[in-house]
This record gives sequence, structure tokens and C-alpha cells, in this order.
Amino acid sequence: MLYLSTRGHPDRKHFCEILLEGLAPDGGLYLPESYPKVDAATLAKWRGLPYADLAFEILSLYIDDIPAADLRAICRKTYTAEVFGTREIVPLRPLEEGVYLEALSNGPTLAFKDMAMQLLGNLFEYELARRGEELNILGATSGDTGSAAEYAMRGKKGVRVFMTSPNGRMSAFQQAQMFSLQDANIHNLAVEGVFDDCQDIVKAVSNDLAFKRKYRIGTVNSINWARLVAQVVYYFAGYFQATRSDDERVSFAVPSGNFGNICAGHVARMMGLPIAQLVLATNENDVLDEFFRTGTYRVRGSQDTYETSSPSMDISKASNFERFVFDLLQRDGAKVRYLFAEELAAKGQFTLGAEVLQARETYGFVSGKSTHADRLATIRDTWERFGTMIDTHTADGLKVAREHRRPGVPTIVLETALPIKFAETIVEALGREPDRPAKFAGIEQLPKRVTVLPADAERVKQFIAAHCA
Ligand SMILES: *Cc1c(COP(=O)(O)O)cnc(C)c1O
Repeated sequence: MLYLSTRGHPDRKHFCEILLEGLAPDGGLYLPESYPKVDAATLAKWRGLPYADLAFEILSLYIDDIPAADLRAICRKTYTAEVFGTREIVPLRPLEEGVYLEALSNGPTLAFKDMAMQLLGNLFEYELARRGEELNILGATSGDTGSAAEYAMRGKKGVRVFMTSPNGRMSAFQQAQMFSLQDANIHNLAVEGVFDDCQDIVKAVSNDLAFKRKYRIGTVNSINWARLVAQVVYYFAGYFQATRSDDERVSFAVPSGNFGNICAGHVARMMGLPIAQLVLATNENDVLDEFFRTGTYRVRGSQDTYETSSPSMDISKASNFERFVFDLLQRDGAKVRYLFAEELAAKGQFTLGAEVLQARETYGFVSGKSTHADRLATIRDTWERFGTMIDTHTADGLKVAREHRRPGVPTIVLETALPIKFAETIVEALGREPDRPAKFAGIEQLPKRVTVLPADAERVKQFIAAHCA
């Protein structure tokens, strides 16, 4: 299996070559040359496999440069009941008739990003050891991504993490999750500024090519193909739990921001998983809903990006969306390059005509949005009717899922975080605090390991240099 760029670059690469990379050299995103097709006999064989072995079967269709025994060992080491809380790893819970929640948030940081990031940590450690190299991951976080990266990389050989966050602006729970890590290879840098300052620092350091090369600086952002392909697995696992035989179809509803999660659903559908609809849910930041309704993709400036109560979906542009557009345009790299590198850069938007009908009819996409009032109502209703407490992002997904229900087709709503992470809104909706998993009891009181720095890229570089001995 070889990988190409969505912008038409002629190079073709193997999985491990793109594992530690970000964008393709032409600024595009990597995708496989073609999607492996899974037939009915294979689906039947996979039904009933433990999650780690299902992950191995799917990943081995995309990875031909890690020996099978090693890849299987990596999957089994990653997807354990100890780390993810249950034997099923992603158990399904029924709500009303034909609607299920798929629990993706029982990993170390209680959000679905652990599903991919935990695998990435083990793949990085494996590949770096094989090459005899080291990697220093520099990131900026306002919460979820940073903690998932730290919990994935903690204690891993050959990897250090330098994670910037805006000093004093994360919730007490999020700060405690990250800053209580005592691993020597994890460095929390609380920057005196806002999230944008952290992102600017990461950009400035990455743009210093000499520094970047000398200190082997890398990232783990959501455009990483390995993260995306790891997410394909739970679409299969959810399907097998919701159906009895492989002629049944299901729909998935996905709370979306950067389009990584639902893009994995698109890949699963392209492989032949019987998915009827991919229901995309946004919050008030409705860039993607607007596209699927009107055909116009219009990115927002930071003034027009709202801070909402489902903050992990507060995005102004969707970094993985280019992958889907590439497929939608029959994999015309020149056209994708024109749309994203020229039209979007010049005008901040582009419009597709007939293709957006295809997004619905051929690719199964439908969409909707959810507001703060909708979230409160959905959280309350789900608690009162089913005794099930859901988080704000999952509430967005459930609200939009209900708008697109089709008789006879089960809908699986992806649960992307646990309510404890967004306690303030839960209290607003239900008048009570969310339950806290036992392993997080009292984490706010644990000793903290964090360095406060001014919003200055030079100071961050000095810190990295001093800790790379
Ligand atoms: C990251 C995140 C999302 C959005 O997922 P994308 O892959 O960016 O679309 C939704 N919910 C939660 C809780 C998240 O952390």
C-alpha cells in the first residue's frame, strides 16, 4: 500500500515514511492510493474478533512495512481492558429504539482522541527504535489534544513532549490531568497568553528550519494518517455490535470539528462497511454543516469562531476536510490544489455545485447543527428518560442524529468525551455534578509539574534545548 498527496505531488510513500510526517511536500494530505475493499466473507470473519485483533486486521491492509507479528503485538499492547476500561474497548449502550451510544471515551484522558493517540505512541516508539532516532513533539493545546498526546507518549523511549497551553485558562480538571504527569519525557509549558499565542510559538519554532532539524521537532496533529486509520477500527467494531448479520446497514452520527473522526467513517464506508448515512453534527461553529447544506466551504476568522460549551468542536476551518474533497472530486489533485491553495487562500471560501449532491447521494453525508440550548435540552432529556449522562459534544451528535433518523436503520452516536470533562455545563443542565471515574478522584490535589514561560518563542526554544541533553 502506497500513499499519495491530495494535491497531486508525484511521490508515493510507505506507511512508516509518513508516520512521523505532517503535510505532504506540496501542502496536501496523505491518503492511500486506493481503499482496500472488504467483502462479505471478510466481514463475517471479522465479526466477533477481539478489538485488538480487529485493529490488526484493518491496519495490516494499510501498513506493509511493519512485520505482521510486530504489528499484532503493537495492537494487543494498545487496546487492553486495563487502559480502556472494558473488554469490548468501545461498548455500545442502547438509548431509544434504534439509537445507540458507542463509548469511545474510556481511555486515559476520557475523550475519543485516546483511541488513536494510544496507538500512535506505540507506533512512534517502535519506529524510532528501529531507526535509532529521537523525536521531540512540540504542540499547543487548550485541553483535549494535548492531554491525549501526553498520555500516549509518557514513558515512551525516544520521544519527548513539549506541550504549550495558555496559563490558567484550562479547566482545573484539564490542568490536573496534564500537570500531574511526573514522567521525565513530558514537559508542560504554561504560556503567559492565550491559545493563539501558543499556536504562534509552535509555528515560529517549526519555521526555524535549522532549529527544527537540530532538535528533531515533530507534531502529532489531527492530519496524521496513522491517527485517522486507527479511528476506522471503531466504526467496524460499532457495526458488529449493533447488527446480527452483514446485510444490515447502520448510520453513524459524529460530533465534528476538524473532520478527522467522520473522515475515518468515510474511509470505513469506502472499504465496504455497510453504512447508510454519515451524520455530521457541528455546534454553533457550523463551517461543515454549511458546506453539506449549501456546497459552500467558507472558513471563519478568529473573531467569527465562537467559544461554546462543546469547545473541542470550536474550529474555524476543518483540517482533514481536504481528504474528503479529494475523493468527492474523483481524486483530481490539480483541482484540489487549486481550491485549497489558491481559491481558499485568496477568497476564504469555495463553492462546489453538483458535487455536494453527490456528497449526500453517493457518499451518504448529511449534517446539522446544535446550539447551547439544544445541548442543555439533550443532556437533560437523555438523563431523565434513560438515566444516561452524556457530555456536551455527544449531545450535539445525538441532537442531530435524531433529525436524520430513518426507519429500520439503527443509528450509532459516537460518544466523544465523558461528562466529567465539561462539568460546568452538566451542572447547568442537570443541577448536579457529573460522576467522576474512581481513578480521577482528587487529581486536582496531586503535585503539579509545569513551567510557566512568557509568550516568547525564543524562551520556548531555550527550554527545549536545555531539556534535550
Ligand atoms: C476532537 C474532538 C471532537 C472533534 O473531532 P474531529 O476529529 O476534530 O472532527 C469532538 N468531540 C471531542 C470531545 C473532541 O475531543
